[in-house]
Order: sequence, then structure tokens, then C-alpha cells
Amino acid sequence: MIRFSALGLIFLISSLFGCAQAVQDVHETRFLLGTLVEFTIHTKDKKTALKAISKAAQVMQQVEDTFTTYGDVDNTVKQFNQANVGQAVRLASEVDKLLLQSISIHQQSQGAFDPTLGVLNKLWGFSGEHLLTEPPTDAQIQQALAQSGVQSIKKTEQGWVKKVQGLALDFGAIAKGYAIDQGIQVFKQYGFTQAIINAGGDMRILGQHGDQPWRIAIRHPRQSQALGWVQVEHDTSIVTSGDYERFYMYQGQRYHHILNPETGKPAINSQSVTVVAPTAILADAWSTALFVLGAEQGLKVLKKQKGLSVLWVNADASLSQTHDFKMRDMAHKIE
Ligand code: ADP
Ligand code: MG
Repeated sequence: MIRFSALGLIFLISSLFGCAQAVQDVHETRFLLGTLVEFTIHTKDKKTALKAISKAAQVMQQVEDTFTTYGDVDNTVKQFNQANVGQAVRLASEVDKLLLQSISIHQQSQGAFDPTLGVLNKLWGFSGEHLLTEPPTDAQIQQALAQSGVQSIKKTEQGWVKKVQGLALDFGAIAKGYAIDQGIQVFKQYGFTQAIINAGGDMRILGQHGDQPWRIAIRHPRQSQALGWVQVEHDTSIVTSGDYERFYMYQGQRYHHILNPETGKPAINSQSVTVVAPTAILADAWSTALFVLGAEQGLKVLKKQKGLSVLWVNADASLSQTHDFKMRDMAHKIE
């Protein structure tokens, strides 16, 4: 799954003068899902908050173990990936559910989101231990593309079956979102109503920060200062996919980890895409899909998708957005 990830989104803790003394941000950071995950609960009850954070981290680690295609842990995704053509594999129920949801997002996104790119992703090598320094050949890309495609897997009574040898699933563009949702579920079970989980810039937030909405800065894909910031509150997720997270330059061209399933190469329409959605699963999957589609095609696809509010930094650095994406520029002071 995900190995290294720069922060696409940073949440801004504004000062909280005026709040009751005993209320505080209980804050912990863990390394999970290949990235730093920050847990923050705004509460009077530090002891219970720390318990909730430990439990959430544990649940998120389980999600990583269930979906990862790296490391030593055994899971049903790896079993499927290693299976031969025609050999049915029973996926863990969470994997089964996420695969069905991924296939449905594949259809809704006109193929831009594709959970069967395992071979291609490994070929490009962005999630491995060592970043490659030059792109694979066209012949290698064509070969990997032939071992992918949602039409080449099917669900049978006995389990999931692949129709082409070598095909591999990869949940790198959606499992982090799912893990964040599971972590937030734990916070809810503990009764917390003001919290945030930030997994390397992918976030879900609960409630407000004190009596203010949470303020989330959006990273500029090419500059060190933020592009702007947004206010989010209640139960919302905000996720950015960017070409600056894992990339290398080769002969003046940028090669990064979000692949266009049509070409088998890094998608070229966007520098970054930020999606605000009700859940982190949706925000994560759609930020990847809409990155691949680019703004022009993406805005058309979004006419049929409710509840997603989106900002693109296009390939030429111009901005596009859905009408409801309210970004404030950094000149609006954060006190
Ligand atoms: P990040 O995990 O860095 O936040 P994304 O959510 O956009 O970024 O996911 C990128 C990861 O998803 C890649 O590393 C790869 O594992 C996988 N992936 C790449 N291209 C696609 C695609 N078109 N559809 C689905 N998954 C993809
Ligand atoms: Mg994603």
C-alpha cells in the first residue's frame, strides 16, 4: 500500500481563547498506512480520548493489514493476487465490500478509478522501498495493462476469480480513506463529537474545533506556501491527491504515482485534486479518479455524483472547481 506521502492537507489549529479552560486538544501521532497519522480529539476528558485514539489506531492498523500488498502479513488480497486464473479466492468481507464499491466507482468514473492496477503500480514502483529513477518501457507498460482491468475479474459463489494470469488488486487509492472512516467510527462509539483524523493529509473531521469550524489548509502543488484554506465542520472528509506526493523527474518530465488506466502512465491532466465528501472512502477514491479525469471531464462526471465538492489545480496551474467549493486565500488571516 502507501509508503511515503507528503502532507497534501494540513489542518490549522487556531487559538482557542474563550473556551473553557479544561477543554483541550488531545493529540497523538502514529505511523500507520505508510504515513504519519495525527489523531486530535477536542475534549475535557483526556484519559478517555487517549483510549479512543489507541483503539482507533489499532483498528486502522487492522485495515492496513487486511489490504496491504506489501510486507510479510498474509491477507486475502495477497492470496487473490497470487492465485492462478480460474482459482476462486474468498476475500475477507471488508475486502469484498471495498472491491464492490471500487468497481462501482470504476463505472461511475468512466474507468478512471481502477482497483485492478496492481501489476502496473508495482511496475512503476512508487510504493516500493526504492523509488525508480526512470520510467518502464512501453512494452512493459502494455504487458502490465494486459494484466489489469475490472472486466478481467468476477465474483462467483466460490469467491473472486481472475480471467488473466498475474492480475493483481491494489487498494492504494481507497484503503486509507476506509481506514480513516473506521477510526472516526471508534471516536463516535466513545461519544466524541469534536475530532479529526489526518492520515498524511487525508482527513475526516467531526463537529467543530471549539466553537469554530475546523480550518484546513490546501497545499500548493508546486510552492511551499499553502494554496488556500477551507472551513469544514460536522461530519466531513477532505482528501487531496497530488502529483507531488511520490514522483521523480526524468528528462525534464514528472513521473508520479496516479496512473491513467487507459494509457498505463501517470495521469497528465491535473497537479492536484481536493475532494470534500461525507466519508473518507468517497473523498479518497474520487480524488484519485478526478485527478485522472481532469477538470473538464471530471465536472461532467460529477453531474451524476451527489455530495462531492471539488477543487482542481490543473496541469497548467489554473484552478477549476465545483460551484460549492469555497476556498479562502491565505490573505484571509488565520488568527
Ligand atoms: P495517496 O495514497 O498518495 O494519497 P491516492 O489516494 O491518489 O494517493 O492513491 C494513489 C495510489 O493508488 C497509487 O499509489 C496506487 O497504489 C493506486 N492507484 C494509482 N492509480 C490509480 C487509479 N487510476 N485507480 C485506482 N488506484 C490507483
Ligand atoms: Mg485516493
